[in-house]
Amino acid sequence: MSDQTATDWAFDAEFADVLEAVPDDQFDPERFVPGVGPLDVDVMLVGEAPGKQEVKQGEPFVGQAGNQLDRALEAIGHDRAELYITNLVKVRPPENRDPYVDEIEAWWPVLEAEIERVDPTVLVPLGSFATDELLDTDETITDLHGRQFERQGRTVVPAFHPAAALYDRSKVDAVESDLQTALELARET
Ligand code: URA
Repeated sequence: MSDQTATDWAFDAEFADVLEAVPDDQFDPERFVPGVGPLDVDVMLVGEAPGKQEVKQGEPFVGQAGNQLDRALEAIGHDRAELYITNLVKVRPPENRDPYVDEIEAWWPVLEAEIERVDPTVLVPLGSFATDELLDTDETITDLHGRQFERQGRTVVPAFHPAAALYDRSKVDAVESDLQTALELARET
C-alpha cells in the first residue's frame, strides 16, 4: 500500500509509458481527462468517456452525471474522495457521441495500467460500454448490474451509468444499491 492521496501524484508521470503508446490521432490533449483519486484504494469506478464539463475541469464525473454519482454516494454514506475514478476512453468524443471501437482499443492499455497500479479489489464499470469491455460480454447492463463477477482475481460489480438515472428516475435506487454492493464487498475483502 502506498500512502499517496488523490492529489499528490500526476497522471502524466505515473502512466507516462503507456500514454506514450496511445496513437497520436487518438490523443487530443485539449479533450483529455485523466483518472483521479488515491492510488491505494479498494474500489475503482470506470465510466465511459469524459463530457464537456469534465474537459473544462480536467476531472472525470464533474458534470450532471457526476452530480448524480455524488448524490448516490452520499445517499449510501460515501464520498468520491475514497475512490479512484476513471473512464474507458480518456478523450471526449465529439458531440458526446458513443465511443468508437478504435477509441476504446487505443485507450484500453491505459485503463489496464491504472487497474494494475491501483490494484483495486472491486472494479465498478458504470454503464454498458465499460461493462462490455471489462467483462467481455454482450449481456445488457440491465441484466448485469449489481451482480458480482470475477475478473483476473478481482470482483467486478457493474452498475448503471449515473447519467441513466438522470433520465430515468427509477434507476436512482439501482445506482445507489449497485454502488453499495461494490463498497460493501470491498470492505469485506
Ligand atoms: N460520463 C462518463 O462516462 N464519464 C465522465 O467522466 C462523465 C460522464
